Amino acid sequence: MSRRYRKLETSKDLTHLMTRYYATRKVVGKVRPLAWVTSGAPVEILVGMGVATVYPENYGALLGAQQAAVPLAQVAEEQGFSPDLCSYARCHVGSVLDPRNAPQGGLPRPDLLVASNNICGTVIKWYQALAQQLNVPLFLLDAPYQHEPGLADHTLQYVAAQLEDLIAWVTRHTGRRLNQHKFEQALQLSNEAVTLWREIRELCQARPSPLNAPDLFLTMAPIVVLRGSKDAVTFYRKLKAEVEGRVSRGEGAIMEERYRLLWDNIAIWYRLFRLFSLFTDAGACFVVDTYTNAWSVSVDTDDPILGLAQTYSTVYINQSLQARADQMVDLVERFGVDGLVFHSNRSCKPYSLGQYEVLEEIGRRTGVPGLILEADMCDTRLYADEPIKNRIQAFLDLLAG
Ligand code: SF4
Repeated sequence: MSRRYRKLETSKDLTHLMTRYYATRKVVGKVRPLAWVTSGAPVEILVGMGVATVYPENYGALLGAQQAAVPLAQVAEEQGFSPDLCSYARCHVGSVLDPRNAPQGGLPRPDLLVASNNICGTVIKWYQALAQQLNVPLFLLDAPYQHEPGLADHTLQYVAAQLEDLIAWVTRHTGRRLNQHKFEQALQLSNEAVTLWREIRELCQARPSPLNAPDLFLTMAPIVVLRGSKDAVTFYRKLKAEVEGRVSRGEGAIMEERYRLLWDNIAIWYRLFRLFSLFTDAGACFVVDTYTNAWSVSVDTDDPILGLAQTYSTVYINQSLQARADQMVDLVERFGVDGLVFHSNRSCKPYSLGQYEVLEEIGRRTGVPGLILEADMCDTRLYADEPIKNRIQAFLDLLAG
């Protein structure tokens, strides 16, 4: 890692927390029933029903970071899964087909599968394949794509009705009922963690920014996999205190911040620090990104089911390109962004399609220049070192004027 980079003290807590998270779920029978869920699943309901969760997407990111994704993706490809499919899906399916060669022996076997297409259509087929392979019941939550701003009432009611169905479905398959107290507590803890996460990210408006994108990509894990738990709140309180300390001392995430950048799309997990050090060495800090920003929306608890329907229907990539461009213009203005770097991620079509148009529109509205890097979040076969380095260097030269 570059010496120009300041490491977070709280990263030790993160390592302990995530190690414990996976370890407790590996102990057979310790956390049952167990559901495999997508990142946009309404987890607060499951917590309120005493159902533990694990996230194959998070496991995919770990495989990507450990450069363990490709051999497992190849296992899936040999069984007929297309190499054009999302690499989270391919490497996770590979870990199910060949657990002996998967880190940690793969994820613990689930009792239930819960997927929502609020992030993409891929998860429907991915989870159907898992349901078939493992002979486990699957619940699909359909959250219609938002072409227009503002959620139509009929969509809200449609999604809310499915959430009621989810509760009945879990009861049917596990015998567990929704415990109102646990559910309310999960919502309150989830909102507290989301609020802390939002506040931490907002602190990056400071100059220099106290965090850089790799910090955000690493510390986002609890907001994805531990929403609704005390552990997530405890972790983000500590992280916020550390970040506030940096701001009050005028300490940046990188030693000499000269340019402030915005990152769009999922991280390139296997090159996290190596890629970002190319920017860090030139004094370029990613002060904001759209990916970790996606977990910044609280749930309105006046009517929790409607509140969950609203929040989970309007996740970032379930919205139109226009809505995404508007959000990014807002981030550019509030965070004082000098340049945009978009990862055109071969795996994640819903995130990557339309990026050229969005970049053009933001450029037109703000005058901020942009760069598109073509790669993949987990599949190292789709990363070309030299062309990427050259493009980054040309972009940094442009910023230097
Ligand atoms: S296609 Fe994109 S949104 Fe869907 S699972 Fe893969 S990375 Fe996530």
